[in-house]
Amino acid sequence: MTVSASIPTAKSRVLIAGATGFIGQFVAKASLDAGRPTYVLVRPGLAGCPSKSRVLKSLHDKGAIILHGLITDRENTEKILKDHEIDIVISAVGGANVLDQVALVEAIKAVGTVKRFLPSEFGHDVVRADPVEPGMQMYNDKRVIRRLIEEYRIPYNYICCNSIASWPYYDNKHPADVLPPLDHFKIYGDGTVRAYFVAGTDIGKFTMKIVDDVRAINKSVHFRPSSNFYNMNELASLWEKKIGRTLPRVTVTEEDLLAIAAENNIPESIVASFTHDIFIKGCQSNFSINGPDDVEVGTLYPDEAFRTLDECFDDFALELKDNNKDLGSNGNATPNHVVESLALSAPC
Ligand code: NDP
Repeated sequence: MTVSASIPTAKSRVLIAGATGFIGQFVAKASLDAGRPTYVLVRPGLAGCPSKSRVLKSLHDKGAIILHGLITDRENTEKILKDHEIDIVISAVGGANVLDQVALVEAIKAVGTVKRFLPSEFGHDVVRADPVEPGMQMYNDKRVIRRLIEEYRIPYNYICCNSIASWPYYDNKHPADVLPPLDHFKIYGDGTVRAYFVAGTDIGKFTMKIVDDVRAINKSVHFRPSSNFYNMNELASLWEKKIGRTLPRVTVTEEDLLAIAAENNIPESIVASFTHDIFIKGCQSNFSINGPDDVEVGTLYPDEAFRTLDECFDDFALELKDNNKDLGSNGNATPNHVVESLALSAPC
């Protein structure tokens, strides 16, 4: 298959696995917003989960075509790819299901007509980052999928979008579903190591631009918006500005994060190992993007702005007001064991 024969077009048909998930929702919405024929592959049995049924209904209302099946069912996936003449496949299955994609990759290879495949990445560059266990196991799984894609010569992109724009709780894999702290900040190490924060809507929007872009084919695409390069201390100050008061800071040391990772509680320990890699070791910025297999998304679309972290934190402050939560101008903090109590959307 030559590269020129592999270029999808704006009317390309997109199949998304994992569209009811945290990242998958952003991608599916962006695909629909871009006016693409969008098929979402949904695991049977969502009826028992109201929040996921709601997501599915809203995607359906926007025009998504709902298909049922598991990516582990190679025969069914092959049939779907053929019957619906799918051009682009995007997987956003969760970290525990990365190896489920083996059967999906096999199906894409067997059909031979898919012009671009984006496996479930949506984080760090897994060949460069080097977290401690148990995070490393997830990266090893993602590396297995990368090797298979490349061995089968399937045209691909690896989306390395870094951190979701939110307060980076060390024990929550979907921190953008939760408001930033209201009682105290937990600062990792000395709080000076920076990371890139990207709004979920921008992860979706730029992913859907990349899938047709000939300049990006067979590359890792890195999201490094310079406006959103913050360390923990700066992030805390930004949130303090939004809530109009200061909060105490508590240091979470490198040793603390390593100890939480070593407890091997899944998924919290995985998140702790990534938190250590990001905010202690600086894994998002300790390498340059100048190889032939890499491209930075800002160089592809210099005229397209990213939502700023400042704007994203405005949204969190608005949520807080809408929830009638006390902004605490008197300095008495609203109790903040809030990872659950101030969740913005309830998972099943
Ligand atoms: P979620 O766990 O939120 O969602 C996973 C989705 O995949 C669900 O829709 C689930 O379906 C679906 N799924 C799982 N297994 C199968 C299967 N065998 N067949 C069909 N569908 C399946 O995933 P996340 O959004 O947390 O993770 C997606 C990717 O994003 C991962 O690679 C993760 O590492 C990365 N990530 C990045 C973050 C960042 O800050 N950059 C944050 C979080 C994740 P169902 O609804 O039936 O369960």
